[in-house]
Amino acid sequence: MSKSPKLPISQVLLEAHQSRIEPLIDRFAREQKIHSTLLFTGIDGVGKKSMVLHLLHALFCDESVFANNEESGNGKTGQAPCGKCKSCKRAAMDQWLDLYWFEPESNDEERLGTHKIEAFRELKTKLGMGATEEPFKVVVIADADRMTIPAANSILKMLEEPPRNWIFILTAADSSRLLPTILSRCLEIRMQPLAEKQIYEILKESKGLEFQAKRAEVAARAGMGSIRRAQLFQDEETWKLREQLLGLLSNPAQEWMKVVEGMSASQRSMILGFDLLESIFHDLMMNNVSGSHPWIHQDQKEFLKQWSEAKRLQPAQIESILSRIAENRRFATLTLNSKLLAQQTLIPLLESIL
Ligand SMILES: [Zn+2]
Repeated sequence: MSKSPKLPISQVLLEAHQSRIEPLIDRFAREQKIHSTLLFTGIDGVGKKSMVLHLLHALFCDESVFANNEESGNGKTGQAPCGKCKSCKRAAMDQWLDLYWFEPESNDEERLGTHKIEAFRELKTKLGMGATEEPFKVVVIADADRMTIPAANSILKMLEEPPRNWIFILTAADSSRLLPTILSRCLEIRMQPLAEKQIYEILKESKGLEFQAKRAEVAARAGMGSIRRAQLFQDEETWKLREQLLGLLSNPAQEWMKVVEGMSASQRSMILGFDLLESIFHDLMMNNVSGSHPWIHQDQKEFLKQWSEAKRLQPAQIESILSRIAENRRFATLTLNSKLLAQQTLIPLLESIL
């Protein structure tokens, strides 16, 4: 089953979430028991799935107190996976024997997928089976807040009578979208947004030689706690769109069509466009409120300041631009006419500055 994160997990990420995960592994080891349904929550891109993988790695390790091996454990608690045993090596090669990992499925690449009941049917037929090599069988439902109602009900039935030695792990950015009956069975592990510095280090770690410090600084701040968001901001495509949007501010007549085309090129660029616009006007707004806030677009600070002074941009205007962006953003994933949406978002912006 497709599983997005792979080992090894970023050391910076592990350290960032250490205070959540270690006590959990510790507690399971002490009690010699694992809660049968775990729910990892936190904003999109904070590293929930990576931490689930780390938890599994640690629990499946032959040195863990749960291993079938009689010599295992030795009273150790909360330890990291050893990295040397058979289970650890298998995990490193992404060969998990007793793991079913579900990701939302999508018919259209551009759209966020959902978990459909069909995906869980096969799982049902396996319910009676015990684990083959590991101490338990684990079912991971990533982005469980995107289950259709029939899918959620079929999972609920399994959670109500969890088979012996089966563990269910759910992740969700928005736990309010889970059925209350599912939620009430879960032990929730809340993951905090990442700090700007942590995101910067993760970007640096993952980019290697292609790393561009200036770009990463902007991206880390714009990420607002999310690695995924920061990675998006770091992309070539985003950077190009940002150039266009900044160009629109200084030369609306000439750049107008380029920006509309750029934003409406795909659903992804539309969302990026909204993110960028929001972050640019957020900077301007904060500049009005307090002169010393950390700018997301630090490298464009002087340009943006001069621009807003030259246009005599008032806080009320910025506020209305921001609320228009927020209003239109809802349609970014729904709209059929993306050019129109881009225009409707940008026109009030231009009206206020021309
Ligand atoms: Zn191991």
